[in-house]
Amino acid sequence: MRANEFFARRSRIAAALAERNLDALIVSGAPNVRYLTGFTGSNGLALLSPAGTVLFTDPRYEIQAAQETACRIRIARGSLYRAVMQAAARRRFRRLGFEKGRLPYQDYEELQAGLTLGASLVPLAGVVEAQRMVKSRAEIALIQRSVETNSAAFDRAIRRARPGVRECELAAELDYQMRLLGAQGPAFDTIVAAGPRSALPHAQPTVNTLRRNQLLLIDVGASRDGYASDMTRMAFLGRPGRKVGRLYRTVLEAQSAALEAVRPGVRAEQIDRAARRVLRAGKLERAMVHSTGHGLGLEIHEAPRLGRGEKSSLAEGMVITVEPGIYLEGFGGIRIEDTVVVTHSGASVLTPTSKDLLIL
Ligand code: ZN
Ligand code: ZN
Repeated sequence: MRANEFFARRSRIAAALAERNLDALIVSGAPNVRYLTGFTGSNGLALLSPAGTVLFTDPRYEIQAAQETACRIRIARGSLYRAVMQAAARRRFRRLGFEKGRLPYQDYEELQAGLTLGASLVPLAGVVEAQRMVKSRAEIALIQRSVETNSAAFDRAIRRARPGVRECELAAELDYQMRLLGAQGPAFDTIVAAGPRSALPHAQPTVNTLRRNQLLLIDVGASRDGYASDMTRMAFLGRPGRKVGRLYRTVLEAQSAALEAVRPGVRAEQIDRAARRVLRAGKLERAMVHSTGHGLGLEIHEAPRLGRGEKSSLAEGMVITVEPGIYLEGFGGIRIEDTVVVTHSGASVLTPTSKDLLIL
């Protein structure tokens, strides 16, 4: 990522602060700090104002911060929150915004303790996140690479899926292969769920072995250079019966309908509605217990949420998942998920992996 891209991001946030009559924003959410400064360490705060941005971190990150960010850096030996408030006081900032969804109460108390007379803290929600929804060309290229790494890891790992292999082994193999291929790790806990356990949308892999005539659900994503990918594919160990075939086709049809609905200007809830319409026709709407998708980027779950009541509109450059699924207790679940870019005219599916039901 080029330094001027970070600079442009900070300028847009500074403009958003001016509109709210704020002197500065204390950025405490790690993905937001990364988005605005380039700093990837685990302990960092940014004080962003129209006059410039200062990154606060501790001595462990002194060398790393200098390599990663063009912002001014302050190495604090004690609390970063105290250091930020001292800097704010020196600059005579009076109205200080903070990220209310990204700040533990204890840290909020520390900010408050550092307020000088006449200064105040103003809670803000989603200021940086709103900007992060629309990805730059450079970000889309990074997500594409994450998606390709993820799919390559899937292709390698799936060769080990056969009766007798444990769910946790297959999950470990997926994580191992993505790391070998250049990912820093999984973007979320890899899901490998066989048989009736696939009816749990967020199943944890167990020591249970895969058996014949079972559905197998794999939901996996890589984190590469900070950017997430997300994909769900289904396999069947043996010859699927008519019920599995029918259910699979219905979910695939729902996913296609949702993909076709994606374009700029469409409300996020309409994508969800397109998927549910197909499931309703197959009397399966009640079996879908989650929304149709979510934004992703530096985090695995970002705005927008593609669910009921979500009025925000899609825009070119957003990256989202499209992942309808059905879950039948005692039988199993079927979900099909791709990572998708909203283009000027529709959707471009980044995920290269085939969506056929894999027969193992
Ligand atoms: Zn997923
Ligand atoms: Zn997802």
